[in-house]
Amino acid sequence: NRQFRLAERPQGLPKQSDWELVSEAVAEPGNDEILVAVEYISLDPAMRGWMNAGKSYIKPVEIGELMRAGTAGTVLKSNHSDFAEGDKVSGNFGVQTHAVVAGKDARKVDTNLAELPAYLGVLGMPGMTAYFGLLDVGGVAEGETVVVSAASGAVGALVGQIAKLKGARVVGIAGSSEKCSYVTDELGFDAAIDYKNENVYKAMKEHCPKGIDVFFDNVGGEILDFALANLALKGRIVICGAISQYNATEGMYAPKNYMSLLVNRARMEGFVVFDYADRYGEAAKALADWLSEGKIKHREDIVEGFENFPDTLLKLFEGSNFGKLVLKV
Ligand code: NDP
Repeated sequence: NRQFRLAERPQGLPKQSDWELVSEAVAEPGNDEILVAVEYISLDPAMRGWMNAGKSYIKPVEIGELMRAGTAGTVLKSNHSDFAEGDKVSGNFGVQTHAVVAGKDARKVDTNLAELPAYLGVLGMPGMTAYFGLLDVGGVAEGETVVVSAASGAVGALVGQIAKLKGARVVGIAGSSEKCSYVTDELGFDAAIDYKNENVYKAMKEHCPKGIDVFFDNVGGEILDFALANLALKGRIVICGAISQYNATEGMYAPKNYMSLLVNRARMEGFVVFDYADRYGEAAKALADWLSEGKIKHREDIVEGFENFPDTLLKLFEGSNFGKLVLKV
C-alpha cells in the first residue's frame, strides 16, 4: 500500500517536501471491514484548508497522518455482509492505493448509471455541494439571475446547470475563453465572463441588467467584491469557497463593498456540504435522474499516476484543471 502523508504544514502553495510518500504492506480486513483497491482519488480545493492547523469545520490532517481524500474503487476482500468482492464503492479512504475500512464507511455505487470517477464529481461531494448550496442556501427562483464563479469546475458547472433547470438566467465566470465557451455552448449558460481578460465589474453589469439575485461564490477576492457591487434587491450571496485566497500568506482579501448588503436588504451566507449528510439521498436521486434524462453534463479531468498527487493538486490553484480533477491510481 502506498500513501501520501502530510509531512509539513505548507506556507502558501503546497510543496513536494510538505508530503511524504510511504509504502507498507496491505492490511487484512477484520470483522465487518472491507479491503478496497483505490482507483480514483478526488482532488479538492478544500484539501488545502485541511492541511492547516487551527479551528475549521473539520479537524485538520495532522503531521504524519494519511492525507484525507474522497476516493472510489473496487472491493478486493469483504468481511461485511453488504459487500462482495468486485463491488464498486466510494468513500473517504484518503490518498492511498489500498484501504481497509469499516463497511459502514463505504457506499456501493452503480457503474451502469455513470463511470466510477463521476461518483467523485457530479454524483459525489461536488454534486451535493452545488445542489444544496444553490437550492437551500441560495434559494434560487424562476426568472432570477444567478452568477457563479469557477463556473467550468466541478461545483460551478453543476450550479449553473441546476439554475438553468430551475428557470434562472445564468452567468458563469471562468479563467479562459475555452472555459467560457464550454459553459455557454456545452452547458447552456446564458453568458460567461473571462475574468482574466475582461473587466468583471462592467461585464457583470452588462450581463445582469437587473442585478444579481444569487451569487454562488467559489473564488472570493475581488470577484466577490464586484458581485457585491452588482447585487439586486434581496440578493443572496452563497459563500461556497474562496479558492483565490486559500494560499494567501499575508491575510485574505476582505470585501470592501459589504454595505451593498444593507442597501439591498441582501444576505451573504456560508455553508458546508457535510451538514446536509442526512439529505444526500435526495440530491443523489435528483442528480442521477437529471443525468439519466440527459439534462446535465459532467466533465472529469483525469490525471494518471498515484505518485503525481502533489503536482496534480496544484492544478486547482493554477486553474489548469478543466472539470472535476481526479487522480487515477
Ligand atoms: P474546480 O473544479 O472549480 O477547480 C478550481 C478552479 O478554481 C480552477 O480550475 C480555477 O478555474 C479556479 N481558480 C483557481 N484559482 C483562482 C483564482 N485565484 N481566482 C479565480 N479563480 C480561481 O473546484 P471545485 O468545483 O471542486 O471547488 C470549487 C469551490 O467550491 C472551491 O472554493 C471549494 O473549496 C468549494 N467547495 C466548498 C464546499 C462546501 O461545502 N462549502 C464543498 C466543495 C467545494 P478558472 O480557470 O476558471 O480560474
